[in-house]
Amino acid sequence: MGSHLCETLLEQGNEVICVDNFYTGTKNNILHLFPNPHFEVIRHDVTFPLYLEVDQIYNLACPASPIHYQHDPVQTTKTSVHGAINMLGLAKRVKAKILQASTSEVYGDPEVHPQPETYWGKVNPIGIRSCYDEGKRCAETLFFDYWRQHQLEIKVIRIFNTYEPNMHPNDGRVVSNFIVQALKGEPITIYGDGLQTRSFCYVSDLIKGMVAMMATPKEVTGPINVGNPQEFTMLELAKAVIRLTGSKSQLVFKDLPSDDPKQRKPNIDIAKKELGWQPTVALEDGLQKTIAYFQKTLNI
Ligand code: UDP
Ligand code: UDP
Repeated sequence: MGSHLCETLLEQGNEVICVDNFYTGTKNNILHLFPNPHFEVIRHDVTFPLYLEVDQIYNLACPASPIHYQHDPVQTTKTSVHGAINMLGLAKRVKAKILQASTSEVYGDPEVHPQPETYWGKVNPIGIRSCYDEGKRCAETLFFDYWRQHQLEIKVIRIFNTYEPNMHPNDGRVVSNFIVQALKGEPITIYGDGLQTRSFCYVSDLIKGMVAMMATPKEVTGPINVGNPQEFTMLELAKAVIRLTGSKSQLVFKDLPSDDPKQRKPNIDIAKKELGWQPTVALEDGLQKTIAYFQKTLNI
C-alpha cells in the first residue's frame, strides 16, 4: 500500500521520503520511483528513533498479514507501539500532521454489524491475533493522548481489508492466496466453512480516502472507517476468482485459525460526510487488475 501512496503523493507534487525496513515489502515496488529527484528512501525500522524535517507523516508501519505478523509477534507489537511513539515524537518536534493507518482489527470479532466507529470492539487480549490488534489499539490510544496532551494534529483511519497489485505472492492474505492458487491450478484453501465475511476495498479507492483524510481541517481527528461496504463470504470470493481466472482449481477446506473474525463490514457514513469519499471500484474490476498483475509476476 505504501508504494501506491508514494506514487499518488509524488503525482500531487509532494516531496516524499519513504521509510521502510523491507520486512514484508519489496524494493521492486518502488524501483520505478528512484529516478524521481523528489523521492528518497531510507531503510529504517520505526521502532528506533528517526530525526527528519517533514510536514506530514503517514504511519503505515506494521506487517498486516496474519502469517507475517504472527511470525515475530513481539516485534509486531513493538512496531505498532514503539513505532507510534517515535513517529508521534517526530511529529511533535517538527509540528507535522500525522496520520495513523489503523485497522478494522480494532473491532476484533465484532458483535455489532456493520461496524461504526463508536463500537469499541470485541478483542481477545491474549490470542494469536492480539499482537496486531492490541498493538494497533494501543497506537490509537497514543495518538489520542498526544492530541489531548500535546495538541498534535492527528488523523486516524481504520482500514478494512484492502487488496492490490504489488501484493507479495506469499503474502498469505485471502485475495492473493486465492488468485495465486487459481492461476497455478492448485487447490483453493478455504479456512473453516468459508461462510465468514469480509469487505474488500481496491487500493486506489483506499489511497484516495487516506489522502482526503490528511487534507481535512485540524478538528477532524477520526477515527474514520475507510473500506468498501460490499460484503462477501470467502466462498463467494473463491468462486469469483475461479470465474475470472477461468481456473479449474478445486476448493479444499482447512481448519479455521483461532480468533478469525466471523464477519466484517464498515459503516462508512462518517467517511462520506467528513471526507466526501466512498469507494468506486467494484470487486470484479479490482480483482481483474490484481489477477493481471499476478499473471505478469508469476509469468502465467
Ligand atoms: N523521536 C524521534 N524523532 C524526533 C523526535 C522524537 O524519533 O524527531 C522519538 C524519541 O526517541 C522519543 C519518542 O520519539 O523517544 C517520543 O518523543 P517525545 O518527545 O514525545 O518524548 P520524550 O522525548 O520526552 O521521551
Ligand atoms: N482465508 C481463507 N483462505 C486463505 C487465506 C485466508 O479462507 O487462504 C480466510 C481467513 O480465515 C479469513 C479471511 O479469509 O476469514 C480473510 O483473511 P485474511 O488473512 O486475508 O485477512 P483478515 O481479515 O483475517 O485479517
